[in-house]
Parts: sequence; structure tokens; C-alpha cells
Amino acid sequence: MQMHKFFSKKKFDQYFLKDQNIAKKIVNHLSFENYNTVVEVGPGLGILTRYLLTNPYNHVFLIEIDEELIYFLKKNFPISKNQIIHRDFLKWNPEEIRLQNFAIIGNFPYKISSQILFHILRYNQYIPECVGMFQKEVAKRITSHQGNKTYGILSVLVQTFYDVKYLFTVKEKVFFPIPNVQSAVISLKRKNDPIYCNKNMLFQCVKIAFNQRRKKLKNSLQLFNHIPNFYEIPFLNKRAEELSVKEFLQLTKEIEIRK
Ligand code: SAH
Repeated sequence: MQMHKFFSKKKFDQYFLKDQNIAKKIVNHLSFENYNTVVEVGPGLGILTRYLLTNPYNHVFLIEIDEELIYFLKKNFPISKNQIIHRDFLKWNPEEIRLQNFAIIGNFPYKISSQILFHILRYNQYIPECVGMFQKEVAKRITSHQGNKTYGILSVLVQTFYDVKYLFTVKEKVFFPIPNVQSAVISLKRKNDPIYCNKNMLFQCVKIAFNQRRKKLKNSLQLFNHIPNFYEIPFLNKRAEELSVKEFLQLTKEIEIRK
């Protein structure tokens, strides 16, 4: 790979993985259970892409924001041009190309990690699995459980829809240029049991509750105090950080039925 000829762009958060073994290991974590399409976010110079393409039965779509890299990918990878999409992933809607069942993979641009996760959650009905590299601290937050300091909005919302697993830590020196943070690879596998509460309401509750994470819920959720029998809602004497993912779902349902 001609890495020396390519200057990494800070504005696109480009840190290229150099280690082929790690790349292979990341791709091997995709299960391909009940799907054969993979969307790669930010393929860059294609270190993960190469391994995705080793199986000819995989359908691979690449979404890359940097025009120069799009040119590079089209020139170097034997996939159809319309599978190499020049877009900001956050503005990409899978319905545009009628994709309805696909996994997401990527060594993600870290500045927009949360937005990428929210984008995945928006389309979770189409996305059974995701394997991705995040900044280690974000990976810890996503996979954290109640009672933990790192447990927060991302943990609850991602774990509502997905079973999460912290796979392994990745050292700074395997990237070019070297970032100032460690990285980690995690996997998300969609849960089978359907969510019975309203998605928007759940997002709202979790965000409000964690914005004042040390307060008891009866105080942080004052926004809802006008609804009938507000004070009979369970868990109000607890704090956001003490509530499990299941309990957040229950809490949301209780608010919903009273509205
Ligand atoms: N997957 C490659 C590159 C990782 S760096 C590797 O592992 O080496 C992050 C990549 O995401 C870069 O290629 C960058 O151009 C791309 N990127 C940054 N913001 C993006 C966005 N909003 N949508 C799509 N790609 C983006």
C-alpha cells in the first residue's frame, strides 16, 4: 500500500491502520449470520476492505467522505463503482439503495463516534450486526453496565438494541499517523426481543436522566411531572447511573402509558 504518498487529513479524522493482522482479526469478527452485505464506514486506503473482499459472496459497500480516497479506492479495488459511495455516512440513508439487511464495519472517525452510533440506532431494523474500532474510552462507555462510572447515554441506548462485547484493545503505534489515544474493537449483535416502548421517548428519557446523573430521577425527570400519577412511577428514588437497561425500558413505558 502506498501510504507514504498519501497525507492524512486531520479534518476527516484520518488515522490509517497499518497492521494487517489486526485488520484481518477485525473482519473475522463479522459472523455473516443471516446477512451477506457489509457496509464499511470510512474505508480509507482499504486495509479492512481487502479482507472483506476475500469472500466473493459478500456484497460490500464503501462509504467514504474524502474524494481523494474515493479515487484511490475505485482505482485499486475490484468492486463495482456504484458500491463505492462518496458521502458523509451521517447523511447516508440505506433506503436510498434499498439496503435492508446488512452489517456495519469500520475503523471509525473518532470525532463522530457518537453520531455514528446514533445513526446505526436510527436504522437498527436493517442492521443485525456491527464490528467497529472506536477510541478506547468510547468503547468502554458503550459496553459499560449500571453502577459503573462510564455507564451513560451511549451504554443504555446501544444496549437497548444490541448485545455488546468489548473485543480487544489496539495500541496507538499501529496507526499512521499515531493518534494520542488508544483504540478498541467492539461488536454489536442485535437483540431478538422486540422493544415495546416508544423509541423517541426512550431516547428523551435516557438523555434527560443522564444530563443530571447524580440527581434522583424524580428531580431530573421533572419535565414529566405534569403527567397523571407521576410520583407513582417506579425508580424515581434512584439515580440514572443505578438503573439497568431493562429498568430504563420499564421507566419509559410507565411514562408512556400515563401520557
Ligand atoms: N478504515 C481505514 C481508515 C480509518 S480513518 C483504516 O482502518 O485504515 C477514518 C476514515 O473515515 C478516513 O478514511 C476518513 O476519510 C473517513 N471519514 C471521516 N469522516 C467520515 C464521514 N463522515 N463519512 C464517511 N467517512 C468518513
